Amino acid sequence: MSAPSKEERAPVLDCGDNSCRFARQRGGMRTNGGCRCLKELDHDPERRREVTAYLLALAYENERLRGDLDAAVSSFNEAADHLNRAQDENERLRAERAECLAMVENYGIPIPSEVRSRLLAKLRGHDKP
Ligand SMILES: [Zn+2]
Repeated sequence: MSAPSKEERAPVLDCGDNSCRFARQRGGMRTNGGCRCLKELDHDPERRREVTAYLLALAYENERLRGDLDAAVSSFNEAADHLNRAQDENERLRAERAECLAMVENYGIPIPSEVRSRLLAKLRGHDKP
């Protein structure tokens, strides 16, 4: 999973005015004269305040959810790393076991037959219930 681009995190509304109610960043060239977002509600200040408050609450909630998502993605990636390392270690141990098995079988390591058969069963993975 990849992190969202800057555009994906950009505010939904930003008219570019210094007093924009929705702008998150106010750097660079900006206009003066008042926020033009929701200009169509200028005739109804009460409604404009309600819509503005609602949009800002949504933006706040989006940011909070984005933080939760980032944390979840980070945990997932960490778990995937652990899994990959465990799989590598598992492969290494399987190879080592196969080597040990070959040594016991091919070179006739002098060990008591009972111990030898238990060891072979263990190395073959047959010792589990
Ligand atoms: Zn604005």
